[in-house]
Amino acid sequence: MTNVLYDRLLGRHAGSKAPFLYQPDGTILDYGQFVDRVAQFSCAVRTAGLEPGDRLALQVDKSPDALALIFGCIQAGIVFLPLNTGYTADEIAYFVENSGARLLVCDPARADALTPVALAAGAAIQTLGPDGQGTLPALADTLPPAFQTQPRGPDDLAAFLYTSGTTGRSKGAMLTQDNLLSNALTLVDHWRFTDKDVLLHALPIFHTHGLFVATNVILAAGASMVFFPKLDPRALLDWMPRATTLMGVPTFYTRLLDEPGFDRAACASMRLFISGSAPLLAETHRQFETRTGHRILERYGMTETNMNTSNPYDGERRAGTVGLPLPGVQVKVCDDQGNELPRGEIGVLEVRGPNVFKGYWQMPEKTAEELRANGFFITGDLATQGADGYVTIVGRGKDLIISGGYNIYPKEIESLLDDQPGVLESAVIGVPHPDFGESPVAVLVAEKGAAPDLSQIEAAITKALARFKHPKRIFVVDALPRNTMGKVQKNVLRETYQSLFT
Ligand code: ATP
Ligand code: MG
Repeated sequence: MTNVLYDRLLGRHAGSKAPFLYQPDGTILDYGQFVDRVAQFSCAVRTAGLEPGDRLALQVDKSPDALALIFGCIQAGIVFLPLNTGYTADEIAYFVENSGARLLVCDPARADALTPVALAAGAAIQTLGPDGQGTLPALADTLPPAFQTQPRGPDDLAAFLYTSGTTGRSKGAMLTQDNLLSNALTLVDHWRFTDKDVLLHALPIFHTHGLFVATNVILAAGASMVFFPKLDPRALLDWMPRATTLMGVPTFYTRLLDEPGFDRAACASMRLFISGSAPLLAETHRQFETRTGHRILERYGMTETNMNTSNPYDGERRAGTVGLPLPGVQVKVCDDQGNELPRGEIGVLEVRGPNVFKGYWQMPEKTAEELRANGFFITGDLATQGADGYVTIVGRGKDLIISGGYNIYPKEIESLLDDQPGVLESAVIGVPHPDFGESPVAVLVAEKGAAPDLSQIEAAITKALARFKHPKRIFVVDALPRNTMGKVQKNVLRETYQSLFT
């Protein structure tokens, strides 16, 4: 038997001298070296006592060794859970306990704080630092760069990836080998990746975007990537002449547009800019095209499903939409009972395909609520699909505002606000109201140096929108609260303004 994910993504690169990782300091790790390092980590996790099917939790900084550990888990049949580096010890305690991890790997600097957490959950602890320090790399150094790959079938679990926790407590999505592999192969094809590509990789590797979308696509194509520890627009610009592609969250693109040297010449070698994980403003899309001549390709996915839809490579990349269903992925816009709605109506987006996860770890009720018996997953996102198939995400179901019995879609108001002079971006939330149940409240961020004219904005709202949609209050703030993936945390805003009317 084989290990489909390992064999396709890594095994075939054994001994290859082709470049895999460029470090910002210029060091190159070739494919053969990476495959060897992965084997040393496979040996290390087995030596540390883990058996196939066991869970390993890791909260470590982005580094080649961190990636080698993750792929070592795949080779050894260990289910890994990469955790956000921003999580506190209390948060880590939840993930280690919830997943039943037998080993927690953390940064050496956090070992003191996390040892009691691991002990309380009955897990062992090892360390791995960004520059090769730590007990686990030290153990790996002593072990041979060869490992008898653990057989795993397409339906075997590869990872528990915890959702970003934007709408509540993170859930552990159980992803199989084939969930990951099928999506990586689809994306390579759809976005035309080849072994000539060099990806600028500045995303974290604890999230589906940086790990499964970016890294798996590169491995499946035999391409290479420049591995930045975090987003630094200057460093991206320095490397851009040697690169061909970038994958980023919308913030990457607004930050790049803030760089004076970012223009057509700077992107001369680039063939593709991809955006996802949060909505890209249509305005950013337009500015980017004016500045660089490139139309950003926006796609849509989630932890539970990998990628579902993408704008086309050759066809129209339509601003404000997430494009068409990927080959093999079915999408439909439904009412709450799962009945498909006529094209153009807003409803809940459901998706089905080989990319869809097996359920939430140890949350059978939640799994039953969101994963239908017919295989469709209820994403919780509200969307419309046009007659030509293009999907537009309208917002999250949880962010829908119901005021006096009327549905209000925040995005409609946000789009209007974003278009007003001096407004950079906005978020509209529902706040408890004694008469209406909820009322919309708008939170604005001004463009640099601008002071938006609130009475003019109110006039624009009155002209464009029915009265029940008018925000009852408008606030101007310095920045919207965002998590590490650049997602606006509306639950934080709702908390801030919860007592406004009560
Ligand atoms: P949680 O499920 O814990 O609340 P989360 O949904 O933010 O967190 P992720 O799986 O990281 O966790 O994010 C998936 C969500 O991100 C999607 O359901 C969707 O709301 C949003 N998203 C991803 N890509 C896009 C996009 N291109 N446009 C709009 N929204 C997007
Ligand atoms: Mg979610």
